[in-house]
Amino acid sequence: MPKEMICSFCGGIVEPGTGKMYIGPRGEIMWFCSSKCYKNSIKLGRKSRKLKWVTKLSKKLI
Ligand SMILES: [Zn+2]
Repeated sequence: MPKEMICSFCGGIVEPGTGKMYIGPRGEIMWFCSSKCYKNSIKLGRKSRKLKWVTKLSKKLI
């Protein structure tokens, strides 16, 4: 098993035991580092590259 997952929305690292897992309509597994990423990606259907806060968040994590 992989030790770390990459957030499907912002590209940040999802540490084991944290984040949310989502199984898509095609059976694909997606991971999200936070409920914020989850909501934006799944419920709002947004593209991460268009959001400014994603860039800011990624910089903080790095
Ligand atoms: Zn994220």
